[in-house]
Amino acid sequence: SKVLVTGANGYIAIWVVRRLLEKGYSVRGTVRSDSKAEHLRQLFSEYEGKHEVVVVEDITKEGAFDEAVKGVDAIEHIASPLHLHADDPNEFIEPAVRGTLGVLQSALKTNVKRIVVTSSTAAVMEVLTSPRKFSEIDWNQQALKEVEEKGRDALLMDKYRASKILAEKAAWEFVNENKASIGWDLVVLNPPYVYGPVIHHVPSPEQINASMAEFYNTILKGVKDTSQLASLGDCWIDVRDLALAHVLAIEKEQAGGNRFIVSQGPYKWQDFVDAAHKAGVYPESAIPKGGLSSGYAASVTHLIDYDTSKAARVLGMDKYISKEECTKDCLEDFKKRGW
Ligand code: NDP
Repeated sequence: SKVLVTGANGYIAIWVVRRLLEKGYSVRGTVRSDSKAEHLRQLFSEYEGKHEVVVVEDITKEGAFDEAVKGVDAIEHIASPLHLHADDPNEFIEPAVRGTLGVLQSALKTNVKRIVVTSSTAAVMEVLTSPRKFSEIDWNQQALKEVEEKGRDALLMDKYRASKILAEKAAWEFVNENKASIGWDLVVLNPPYVYGPVIHHVPSPEQINASMAEFYNTILKGVKDTSQLASLGDCWIDVRDLALAHVLAIEKEQAGGNRFIVSQGPYKWQDFVDAAHKAGVYPESAIPKGGLSSGYAASVTHLIDYDTSKAARVLGMDKYISKEECTKDCLEDFKKRGW
């Protein structure tokens, strides 16, 4: 069967395309301009006849996806802005919400059976001062409130989080309102920070996507000092596990109508730094030392963690790639690129 993947040239989406093709699906990817299709076409040239790329110039335009959805059985909607500069919160919110609604709207009169929307734990978690384990019943209210009250002066992260909350809410509301007439069901994936090897088009480290920029700058550029390495972190998932979750999300019948948190677990940056030393890909001197031997691990508190039992039970996401494997593979990739 045929799957539409939006924003196919992005860090996560291109891994989803790869995994779908490997499993025998036909894939139609969307990109914003033809020049962004080139790398995809090259990377997947062996899948001739099963892989195509189409241009959807502006995902916020009405009917933007009308052509792209024709003849597909499932949709993975992944395109959404995630960058580190936005004054007006609407720079995130409008493409996120309108893009999502546009995809669902275009799918109304089609034979699509399943739509997967890539949300985020940004739509789940809140910033806290004491530890908490969140699950799918939780919704982030905090970031919305921040953006409503502060507008342009809200934290960049809250603007991004608000876009993910509003887009996911809009999707569930759309499904609710159109229950009687839709032939598909919705699955939402809520991943935390995504790290892992890069296969999209990134000519230089400066052009890497936001989450991998953080990884690269922390492990190889030493942008965090010892105490930051030991205290800063979140939860994470390897991009290849997230791609697998996207495949399972279209395959598992019972997944319909659910959101799923997929997460390997919590980390502090020191964990990835330690893994980088163990990997032995770059010389010791290229990697920050941090608090390695100072009993750091025993003293660490993780404020945020997630209950991932639902994804394990329903999707079968019961094991995740480790920090060690992720780090080694990322560093080998960086090295091959001469970074
Ligand atoms: P990338 O920046 O690598 O990819 C984003 C994709 O969305 C690109 O194809 C990009 O197109 C497209 N896009 C961005 N803004 C717009 C816009 N205004 N109109 C149309 N298309 C747009 O990011 P990721 O792969 O990391 O993110 C993909 C998805 O995963 C997003 O929905 C993000 O919220 C979600 N996510 C990511 C996490 C992470 O840590 N990376 C964590 C949790 C969720 P173009 O290249 O043309 O800009």
